[in-house]
Amino acid sequence: MNDLERLQMRFEAAVQAARDETALEEVRAAFLGRSGEINAIRRSIGRLAPADRPSAGKAINDTVERMETVLGERQTVLAALDVQRKLEERIDVTFPATQPQVGSIHPVRRVIEDACAYFERHGFAVVLGPEVEPAYYNFDALNIPEGHPAREALDSFWIDDTLLLRPHTSPMQIRTMQLHKPPIAIVAPGKCYRRDAVDARHLFQFHQIEGLLVAEGIHFGHLKGMLAGLCRALYGPYQRVRFRPSFFPFTEPSAEVDTTCPKCQGKTTACSMCGGAGWIELGGAGMVHPNVLREVGYDPEIVSGWAFGFGAERLALARYEVDDIRRFIDSDPDFLEQLA
Ligand SMILES: [Zn+2]
Repeated sequence: MNDLERLQMRFEAAVQAARDETALEEVRAAFLGRSGEINAIRRSIGRLAPADRPSAGKAINDTVERMETVLGERQTVLAALDVQRKLEERIDVTFPATQPQVGSIHPVRRVIEDACAYFERHGFAVVLGPEVEPAYYNFDALNIPEGHPAREALDSFWIDDTLLLRPHTSPMQIRTMQLHKPPIAIVAPGKCYRRDAVDARHLFQFHQIEGLLVAEGIHFGHLKGMLAGLCRALYGPYQRVRFRPSFFPFTEPSAEVDTTCPKCQGKTTACSMCGGAGWIELGGAGMVHPNVLREVGYDPEIVSGWAFGFGAERLALARYEVDDIRRFIDSDPDFLEQLA
């Protein structure tokens, strides 16, 4: 083994021992630099016999070439190690993980589902129907003939001369009674549309849940019992309901339905939800008008029934103690997460 081979072996050992770019550069300078070992050997060529000089020079150049190859390979390896080290430094395993975004059921949807589940437990069927309905199902069949003042607040979003977006889910009561003989026990939840100016209590698109029970011997007591049960299912075990006389074309007698304020239970006059009244209004109800029963081919002398219609957003306002109905359609995650 000659001097050049030994030098190359020492060089390779030094290169492999270099842990970073700086150490590698020091090795390069020591061997290949201006005052490095290779140049020292080159200078010694002058002491050789002239005939030996070319082969010695070629041997040195070959050695330098191999050394530079080894140096380049080590540089590549060190650069890759450097990238890996920087990546590892950037990943802090003690840093809190990013929480995945998990959705939840919308509060209005949850109220509808809970109300439907309550009625299903009592043998009611949930029926869904079209949101665009003929005037016949929206009005005429419900004892609201052409020119009746009750149409004023309801006939808003016409598609053409006969079709309009339903202002209530009541068409499903008619459709179900036309298809089936009594007894009938259904709830009809769904979207409705009215020409209401949007404010803290009104939306022009909202959800209703209606109920209908028709059979022999059905009376107001059944209605009150079922609605008291609904309020207890939605708000808590101590809810009571009360009826106030009212008027709807499709029920006779008709009533507004109130339940005890879920927030204060009537125990304070300083309640922000009920204004101290102790009651909150849920919607309308009553005994199905004989004209409606006759319209679907039922005999009002034999069967009777009750119906109610509540706004699902109103139910949710009371349940979640929200003061503005518009909050439900703002798509504000901060608000929705509070109710999740
Ligand atoms: Zn209250």
